[in-house]
Amino acid sequence: MYPCPCSQIHAPRRVVLTGGPGAGKTAVLELIRQSFCHHVKVLPEAASIVFGGGFPRGPVPAVQRASQRAIFYVQRELEAATTGERLAVVLHDRGTIDGLAYWPGPDDFWAGVGTSLGEQLARYDAVIHLRTPSADGGYDQSNPLRIEAAEEAQRIDERIADAWRDHPRRFVVESTESFLTKARRALALLLDEMPTCCRHHQVPALAGDAPP
Ligand SMILES: [Zn+2]
Ligand SMILES: [Zn+2]
Repeated sequence: MYPCPCSQIHAPRRVVLTGGPGAGKTAVLELIRQSFCHHVKVLPEAASIVFGGGFPRGPVPAVQRASQRAIFYVQRELEAATTGERLAVVLHDRGTIDGLAYWPGPDDFWAGVGTSLGEQLARYDAVIHLRTPSADGGYDQSNPLRIEAAEEAQRIDERIADAWRDHPRRFVVESTESFLTKARRALALLLDEMPTCCRHHQVPALAGDAPP
């Protein structure tokens, strides 16, 4: 985090970074932590808190539904717990809408947590979706198990894209041969969300050539 001379009181913008398995979300978040000023706060991922804390997981639909509801509530309260810090951007490592992509059905996720898709879409100012690389781009193809895992990762990524499709400010970052190019696109999108009062330093990863 860069020290920042800005002393404005911002209306914090809520930005989601999402993406399927293998999309590079963790690496991009690390770059963001290193690159932006201390008025950008990166929230922890709710699913990591829930599963890392020992919440049961597995293929049984009742268990999947329980875990997705738990993740939803943790996500919502994480967002509620991040106020009053003079932040310019609150960056969410996934948002409540990602739960739809993991919900085993029936189609009643929102009713189950007492809200609606419209209400959840309105929580976020922007969403940046890092796409999972295709099975033949970025994965080792020599191992059939890995190809299967890659195809499953793409299916999840597709479901995430579908879940967020109605967000009015949704930015999709496709996979590129060079991961740095992809990461720079994501960082440039985040920079666009920053107020001018917080742009006192050059973002190192964006220095030099403008991202293509
Ligand atoms: Zn700042
Ligand atoms: Zn500022």
